Amino acid sequence: MSIYITNTETGKKEKLETLEPGIVKMYVCGPTVYNYIHVGNARPAVVFDAFRRFLEYRGYKVIMVQNFTDIDDKIINEANEWGVDFKDVAETFIAEYWRDVQSLGIRAANFHPRTTDYVDDIVEAIEKLISKGYAYVANNGDVYFSVRKYKEYGKLSGKKIEELISGARVEVNSLKNDPIDFALWKAVKPGEPNWESPWSCGRPGWHIECSVMSQKLLGDTFDIHAGGEDLIFPHHEDEKAQSEALTGKPFARYWMHNGMIITRGDKMSKSIGNVFLVREAIKRYGKDALKLFLLSKHYRTPIEFSDEILLENKRAALKVIKTLNRFEEKYSYPLVPKRDEYMKEIEAKFIEVLEDDFNTPKAIALIFELSKELNKSMDEGKDDEALKRYHLITRVFGSILGIFESGTKIEVQSAEEKVIDEILKVRQEFRKEKNYLAADKIRDALANAGIKVLDTPEGTKWEKFLEVNE
Ligand SMILES: [Zn+2]
Repeated sequence: MSIYITNTETGKKEKLETLEPGIVKMYVCGPTVYNYIHVGNARPAVVFDAFRRFLEYRGYKVIMVQNFTDIDDKIINEANEWGVDFKDVAETFIAEYWRDVQSLGIRAANFHPRTTDYVDDIVEAIEKLISKGYAYVANNGDVYFSVRKYKEYGKLSGKKIEELISGARVEVNSLKNDPIDFALWKAVKPGEPNWESPWSCGRPGWHIECSVMSQKLLGDTFDIHAGGEDLIFPHHEDEKAQSEALTGKPFARYWMHNGMIITRGDKMSKSIGNVFLVREAIKRYGKDALKLFLLSKHYRTPIEFSDEILLENKRAALKVIKTLNRFEEKYSYPLVPKRDEYMKEIEAKFIEVLEDDFNTPKAIALIFELSKELNKSMDEGKDDEALKRYHLITRVFGSILGIFESGTKIEVQSAEEKVIDEILKVRQEFRKEKNYLAADKIRDALANAGIKVLDTPEGTKWEKFLEVNE
């Protein structure tokens, strides 16, 4: 097993060497729960779930932690707007988060800690940082981390302290000794939820929660810390600084970051809106198309989100699903092919591209190739053994990435598909009244629009001819 991943801290592809043999301990920064998740939030969820599946496929035991930030300014603002407790907002959107990730087929991590359950541990960590001289109490009861005391600050993000200050990347605040310092504890403002501490009633700053929860659940040093690249600075830089100051040991051994989703500005906003929610995207394009899109580019590169690109992914996903379903309708019993040279070779290739910094675009290209071969072999009436082998590896490779998983059928209903169903209901009424002229007119009109209506003993069905060019 030699898996290579790009470590943001060194900027290099490094061989994954875990602290304990065969075990990967991994922390992924989770959502702040004040709204439904959008496609940008879904990228780390999809990418690191797929990466975890791949690690497991390669024989690792993965211990994964993903937090919920359940106290934050945005949650408090939302709660004030609704006139409810901040906890109600957090609970609501944690439940909605689960709905979305479940419809994406993403498995839960081993632990999903919430900030407010760790306040005592956070207070303890801050006390330790103060006693070690890394943090100080401001005169309003805030506590700040002294960035200059931690000599390696800036190593992860490649930023220099002076550049950050002159570039106004840090908040200037008269309570701080130095503008680069950041808050570990925020004294309460009127009307805000708060917890007791030796310095003031207040709440934890954002960065300290991830340090404390990751170290509590995975140990002082663990293997991989992951998240979106927008978190590198200041969130991960600050997490690293305070964690290493606290324990005197290295924090995460590898930092993995995914690129951002780019939306094509006004073209997007005209038809749909700037932020595309995961549930809207699933409704419009289907789960597999959305996941295919998110894995179609290397995880570190930005990807552009547009209706066109997603529809392209939808067409590509449907082609594979149709091929798999075509085979599965033909053979309704389990089929295990003999493991031959071809299978060994293609599996080795699949592993090779994913071991090389988790190159999902190359892995997906292999899946497409296999599905195409399967379709062609069925057209040509090739022997069962050949079909079985293409089918099985397409399914297995798909499940390793979390796409085209067993049982996937085309059941995504777009608005257009719903309209067709409604039109067919009207046609059914005409048929009941024996008004075949009207019923046939509807059928012909649908045919003109590329929809073939089939009256079968089980009822009326329809098929859509996708404009897919081989
Ligand atoms: Zn975090």
